[in-house]
Amino acid sequence: MTIFEKIIAREIPATIVHEDDLCICFHDISPQAPTHLLMVPKKRIVRVGEAEAEDKETLGHLLLMAQEVARNEGFLESGFRVVINNGSDGGEAVPHLHLHLLARRKMSWPPG
Ligand code: AMP
Repeated sequence: MTIFEKIIAREIPATIVHEDDLCICFHDISPQAPTHLLMVPKKRIVRVGEAEAEDKETLGHLLLMAQEVARNEGFLESGFRVVINNGSDGGEAVPHLHLHLLARRKMSWPPG
């Protein structure tokens, strides 16, 4: 069981800002921006590189829910960054697909 599955099962605490049938969104424990949220599918898709055709609805849902959370949390207009770290070079630490939503500071490019 990944740490995110334990959060979904309420076995470990998290500050949850959104939950529906397909996904959950909560604050990252080690924020890299004034607002740093994680959006996680309830079905454990390991990473983008292992997603399957049947995950299409869930993958689309995650982006639309990112928009909804950004609106609800008040950073839709000011902007935000969505990050998915995939695999070793991508900096992935938790093998359960998640979108990072980073907001409330000016992001730089290229990313580190
Ligand atoms: P990644 O490197 O893309 O796999 O990101 C994993 C993220 O999960 C990191 O930003 C961590 O800070 C975050 N994280 C790890 N454990 C927890 C936790 N218990 N609650 C919230 N966020 C966590």
